[in-house]
Amino acid sequence: MSVENIKKLTIVGGGAAGWMTAIYLNKVFNSQQPNFQITVIESPDIGIIGVGEATVHSIRFFFAAMGLDENALLRATHATLKTGIMFRNWMQPVAGQMHQYFHPFEQQQLGKDIDMSSSWLLSARYQQERYDEGVSLSAHLIKQGHGPKARQSAPYQGVVPYGYHLDAVLLARFLREHAVAAGVVYLEDTIVDVSVTDGNISSVSSATSCYQADIFIDATGFKGLLIEALQQRNWQSFADALPCNKAVAIQRPHLAGYQPKPYTVATALSHGWAWQIDLSSRQGTGYVYDGNRLTADQAEQELRAWLGPEACALPARHLQMKVGCRQQFWLGNCIAIGLAGGFIEPLESTGLHLINLGARLLSTHLSPGATAQAVRDSYNQAMNGFYQDLKQFIVLHYCLTDRDDTAFWRQARATAVQCAGLPEKLALWRHKICEYHDLAGGYATTFTDENYRYILYGMQHYPQLQLATGEALQQPFVLLQQRVQQALQRTMSHSEYLQQLMPCR
Ligand code: FAD
Repeated sequence: MSVENIKKLTIVGGGAAGWMTAIYLNKVFNSQQPNFQITVIESPDIGIIGVGEATVHSIRFFFAAMGLDENALLRATHATLKTGIMFRNWMQPVAGQMHQYFHPFEQQQLGKDIDMSSSWLLSARYQQERYDEGVSLSAHLIKQGHGPKARQSAPYQGVVPYGYHLDAVLLARFLREHAVAAGVVYLEDTIVDVSVTDGNISSVSSATSCYQADIFIDATGFKGLLIEALQQRNWQSFADALPCNKAVAIQRPHLAGYQPKPYTVATALSHGWAWQIDLSSRQGTGYVYDGNRLTADQAEQELRAWLGPEACALPARHLQMKVGCRQQFWLGNCIAIGLAGGFIEPLESTGLHLINLGARLLSTHLSPGATAQAVRDSYNQAMNGFYQDLKQFIVLHYCLTDRDDTAFWRQARATAVQCAGLPEKLALWRHKICEYHDLAGGYATTFTDENYRYILYGMQHYPQLQLATGEALQQPFVLLQQRVQQALQRTMSHSEYLQQLMPCR
């Protein structure tokens, strides 16, 4: 079906997936075809999942492309800036020191003949510093409490790349307002029935109304109401590789004088890990855990104990997670996006990013001249590739651990075998640096060799190289220190930036 034949596209679901897709497709297709109508049907009773507060940096380009005012977005969603993730306790402490490493969104390229990562390894700088401190600016900025923004930054620009921490409920509301202002039709109704004719959805119905469309987008969250009506047994579970299938979340107010951090913290606990995400108005926390090894009560108790006494009276919310993705994201005239399409556990904050990828891919795949099945196959192949690639990257965080304090962590070491080719690559990366072409496959668009190296070397999985000496090897690190000093002068502290953005905070 070409876009000329599509007059009506209906999205069921008004979470981040529904509204991001609506706003994006509306922007793309309305400029090509004025009669193209997008409708979002959102249940007034079911509500959205309301978690999903950290993003990767590519989301900036999505918001910018939508013409959203960055300051307005940040104020409306109580946002802070994010330059990466600090991982704590993912390995055993050494000499009483907590294990910690940072995964920023950038790596400096300051080597001349030899790239900077190789120089770092060849000169055994791991004996004196963390890898992220050796090759990135962001690691040094956060140590001084600095965010990514220069004093005179243009919207969506920083001295280093950045994403956001934002309130998921407020984000959906903000996107809805902008989508409706741009012409998207918004209906409040709860769909109770999906009619299927010859492998296509002919209509969806509520208790009082029936809605027809040429294309349906399923953005109904984990239940995947529309895509399931087309085909059951269309789910590939990642549970063997990524066993965390539950979460418990607690929001807590900032203590007086607390300065929100420009990075996410991911701390490994007994059967999973806990997030700390600072918004300007509060901190979101939660424990992502293996529900086959820990009960909900045990997880909540552990999270509360970890947060400390001031969290004991705060309400907790328990969530189920379905980790995996559809085999076919696009079936007939229906495409599943967001949680309806799949979910990788939130360790690298990829939920909104996957929606971004799905919506962008849809805009190219609904273009004129393509034959329908070839288009569906291409979309399904690409989305599968993205999910498989992310699965491998998340597994990497677990399988390199040396923790053996619980059966969960002992099992985590064995999860590499659940990703085809990963054990071989891990063995290879004991002999050579991890390079882009090691990840060949074409789907490593989000996390490339730069990102892999942060995890590999943060988890002390170094190649054994013939060590070398010499000034040339040291030069990039001298240059980095100069860049750090310049960046510290150009950038604002994160709290100063937030104060300027929201003076009444
Ligand atoms: P939902 O938010 O569940 O929205 C579903 C929508 O469908 C709602 O509007 C609902 O009312 C509607 N609906 C459902 N049934 C019907 C019906 N019958 N009729 C009409 N409407 C219906 N992502 C990140 O990017 N970063 C993170 O840090 C992050 N952390 C996460 C932590 C946890 C514990 C979990 C579970 C997820 C996390 N995610 C994160 C993922 C993120 O929450 C989702 O990707 C994002 O919120 C999109 O959700 P959604 O719109 O697909 O589904």
